[in-house]
Order: sequence, then structure tokens, then C-alpha cells
Amino acid sequence: MNDLIPPYESVLARIAAAARRAGRRPEEVRLVAVTKTHGPDVVRDAVDAGMDLFGENKVQEAAWKIPLSPASAHWHLIGHLQTNKARQAVRLFETIHSVDSAKLIDALEAAARQAGTRPEVYLEVNVSGEPSKYGLTPEALPGAVEHLLANTHALTLTGLMTMAPFDPEPEHARPHFARLRQLRDALEARFRIGLPHLSMGMTGDFEVAVEEGATDVRVGTALFGARPKVARLAPDADTTSGAL
Ligand SMILES: *Cc1c(COP(=O)(O)O)cnc(C)c1O
Repeated sequence: MNDLIPPYESVLARIAAAARRAGRRPEEVRLVAVTKTHGPDVVRDAVDAGMDLFGENKVQEAAWKIPLSPASAHWHLIGHLQTNKARQAVRLFETIHSVDSAKLIDALEAAARQAGTRPEVYLEVNVSGEPSKYGLTPEALPGAVEHLLANTHALTLTGLMTMAPFDPEPEHARPHFARLRQLRDALEARFRIGLPHLSMGMTGDFEVAVEEGATDVRVGTALFGARPKVARLAPDADTTSGAL
């Protein structure tokens, strides 16, 4: 028996229950299974268990893992992206959740044109204003949308992403998730565009996120257990070269 089936079914059931509580259909929410620090063996088991959409937070780690993983898997980048990794990112990922500057938009557009890919992008918003967090301020968001609409053809803006501050009480994340939804609604009205995706919610708070409108929940620990502090399997961690 595949050990990932029970946690997968449990997470799906919790997503479905949260969706129904909010009067939403469970099918409106997709589970992005976050496999960072785990190897392609884990991705394989996850695919066998029924998962098909995976999230990674580092381009280098994904560049190693994705070619070793089942070809049926779909990959999203959820972690911070530096412009010098844009070329790799547009080849590896269908969707990039963490776009947070005009400079990165330009790098991704150029890279996608060159690679002949059409990635979807979400703008990451630092809703809480925590200085340690990446993301655009809510005030900078309209400018970034304008920049995207005016300057990109290969990229398609389809949503927003946020991370709530770390807090053991999931209810404390609710206002941040509600704010992201309100920002989305305002952008849709102002620019007359559709932004169907809201990427929000992790292991500790995904049910609250679904109640507040999440379409993409990014869940790692609840599916795969606690992560090692150091990514033992990452190819670019020089202490582990050759390990697998
Ligand atoms: C690691 C990570 C997650 C998943 O976190 P869990 O608490 O393990 O579910 C979600 N989003 C981002 C951006 C991450 O880096």
C-alpha cells in the first residue's frame, strides 16, 4: 500500500469540507503538492497515489528533480525567483507563483520568448507587510499589472499569491487571505481582466485559505511529513554530491 494515499485523501477531504463550508465547489481548489527537499522517489509515489500537480521553491533543486520524475507531473514554482534563473524557470514550470518585480517580469518574458514557452504567472503580494517576506506591496500591485499587460506576450497573468505570517493559529491568517481576494477583485474591476487564481494556504492554514477563496493551496508537510532541515537530496548542496 502506498503510504501517501491516507494523507492525500485526508488533505483532499479537508479541502472539500472547507470549500463546502464556504459555499464553494471542491473542484474549484487544486492541491499543489510541495515536494521541496524530497526526491523523485517521493514524487513517483505521490503520482501513484493520484497527485499530479507539484510545487518547488528552488530552481536548482527542480532542475535536478523534474527530469527524474514522472512525465505526467505538472510543476509550479512557488519560491522566490532571481532574474538569472528565469531561463531555467520558464522551461521547468508551467506556472510561476512568485513574480514580484518589473525586472523579473521582463526577464521571464524574454526567457519565455526565447524558449518558446507560455508560462502562467501570479503576482506575489506581501499582504502582511512583514519585512522578511517577498512580494509586492498592495500599493505596487496595480503598477505591476500595468507593466505585465503592456510589455508581455509570452506570459499570461492569471492570479495572485501570498504567504500569511507564521502563526500557529490558522484563524490569524484569515484577514490576510481575505485581503488578497479583495485585491484580486479590485484589479479585475480596474483592468477588466480575469484573475481566476488565488494561491494561498499551506499545511497550517489551507482550510482557512479555501474558505477565503483559494484556488491553489500549497501543501507539503501534511502530505509528506516534516522536512529535513537541510535538503539532503539537493544536487547543489555540495556535501551530498552523488547521494541518492
Ligand atoms: C514550503 C512551502 C509551502 C508548503 O509548506 P508546508 O507548511 O509544508 O505545507 C508552501 N508555500 C511555499 C511558498 C513554500 O515555500
